[in-house]
Amino acid sequence: MHARLRQFVNAMTALVDTTADEARIIREGGALLRALVEQDGWLPAECAQPDPQYYRQYLLYLDPRKRFSVLSFVWGPGQSTPVHNHTVWGLIGMLRGAELAQSYHQGAEGRLERSGPPQRLEPGMVTAVSPMLGDIHQVENAYDDRVSIGIHVYGADIGAVDRAVFTPEGEARPFRSGYANA
Ligand code: FE
Repeated sequence: MHARLRQFVNAMTALVDTTADEARIIREGGALLRALVEQDGWLPAECAQPDPQYYRQYLLYLDPRKRFSVLSFVWGPGQSTPVHNHTVWGLIGMLRGAELAQSYHQGAEGRLERSGPPQRLEPGMVTAVSPMLGDIHQVENAYDDRVSIGIHVYGADIGAVDRAVFTPEGEARPFRSGYANA
């Protein structure tokens, strides 16, 4: 493991050893993730490979007690996620390229409604999702002619968490993401 990623993992481990408070983890973990993604050059090439058809997520580190996982999220040109939730806190840091994230909430009769305009993440920027902050979103590569890569941190072994993707009517369908390199 590259020293920069090792340093981040050690600091995240110390943080979750200290507290289980979600707001504090998002605030202090977000600052740690910002320090990680403000400099490129440490992500292994095998965890930066796009797939021609779908976005990919590679597991970079899983806490032995599954209190957090660290992933690289690799977007091929123009690729996007369905509308989905997480059920645990998540931190999203941009490493290369850019991504657009549209937040949703469930409005009248459970229908999904956009929560404001999409947010554009540029390299070095960090944002968060969680059941407290708003947990439903749709994300896409901001570019249709290049790869973008985000570094995501979640408060669980996210590839094994039972989550949901949503139809436009707000109907939840079971979803488990797995990992491209598992
Ligand atoms: Fe997400």
